[in-house]
Amino acid sequence: SFRVDVPAGSVLFHQGDAPTSAFLLESGSIEVFTEQGDAIRRLGVLGAGDLLGEMAVLDDSPRTATARALSDCVLMPIDRKQFAERLDSADPVVRALLLSQISRYRSALAQLYGHGDPQAAAPAAPRDDASALALDKIRLESHLREALDKGELEVRLQPILDIASKRIAGFEALTRWTHPERGPISPAEFIALAEETSLIVPVGDYVLDAVCGALQRLGRQEQGEDIFVALNVSGRQLDDEQLLDRFLAVLHAHGIRPAQLKIEITESLVLDYAQVSRIIQRCHAAGLKVALDDFGTGYSNLGHLHKLEFDTLKMDQGFIRQMHEPRCLAIVRAVVAMADSLGCNIVAEGVETPEQLRALGELGCTYAQGWLIGKPLALDEAVALLGR
Ligand code: C2E
Ligand code: CA
Ligand code: CA
Repeated sequence: SFRVDVPAGSVLFHQGDAPTSAFLLESGSIEVFTEQGDAIRRLGVLGAGDLLGEMAVLDDSPRTATARALSDCVLMPIDRKQFAERLDSADPVVRALLLSQISRYRSALAQLYGHGDPQAAAPAAPRDDASALALDKIRLESHLREALDKGELEVRLQPILDIASKRIAGFEALTRWTHPERGPISPAEFIALAEETSLIVPVGDYVLDAVCGALQRLGRQEQGEDIFVALNVSGRQLDDEQLLDRFLAVLHAHGIRPAQLKIEITESLVLDYAQVSRIIQRCHAAGLKVALDDFGTGYSNLGHLHKLEFDTLKMDQGFIRQMHEPRCLAIVRAVVAMADSLGCNIVAEGVETPEQLRALGELGCTYAQGWLIGKPLALDEAVALLGR
């Protein structure tokens, strides 16, 4: 039921009870007190609109106090599950902060009122795994901030081969972070971490700056097309309306033609198709190239593909890895043909063997990227690879 009537004088819950629900007090007043032997200490009196019993519900611990109606009351119970669900979906850092506050409050209460219950005095919450992970995250985040200040992120360049001409056509920028104590941390991890806060903005700017520096050294070819560098931009980053303008300003300041920068977008839950489509249009208006990354995984939706006018389709490495299987080869062939008829070029990711490269060449795939062509390289190595 939505409402519970509690007559004056009756007890809603006792100190030490297991929590079942919290309550919103709709009308009447309730006193909250602790009992220690004969000593009764009133913690407070609650009135209409107050929430009570939420603390025990949040950390699923026994009630720290007793609640008794001072007058006839009407209450609305709020189920434990309702809070638990919210709490589970909350940012882990926020959750850890909340639980640590509760546990601190509990131990303060225990000391003040002398419950004599060692259980109550021990701050339980911050010791669980979830909180430890959350604190770890905060720690890592400050380290990342510091690494950024010290210039400790390294932007590596993985070569992309034009299969037909056997020339390096461009590179993909892949960011590396070597943590002083933990060693290398995957960009998948630290980019996701940065995305949870505004830290992604300076990280993105840092990477773009490095990419521009690289393009100044790699950019111009004596013959053939200019070298491009592909930059990963997450959905979260693209949500920032000012991002493209900042990109263009930085490119301009470095004297780099926008067409030499290719933005790699991964389909994600952050952006809907209409948004991606608008971003692509804005990129094109500014002269930037756009690639759809990780095609064929996750959210790739053929029903929306025709609305996205990207220049390059990057076929996920999962397909390439299984190309020896006839059915997988059939899919790769179809994807190459589809890209062709959509008028975009195609990059096969994760090319590791000469057999894969040969098969891709026979299918008419434009570009190959992977360890066979080259690992992500330092700028000097990338320059050397171009034979300069
Ligand atoms: P991605 O864009 O799909 O990048 C390709 C990943 O495959 C890279 O992993 C690359 O090192 C790896 N790879 C390349 N060739 C091969 C191969 O032949 N075999 C195998 N097994 N793997 C290969 P990495 O560098 O760990 O990057 C992981 C992801 O992190 C990237 O996936 C990209 O989404 C993201 N990322 C990396 N740098 C940045 C960045 O600066 N900004 C943003 N927003 N995301 C980044
Ligand atoms: Ca990519
Ligand atoms: Ca990819």
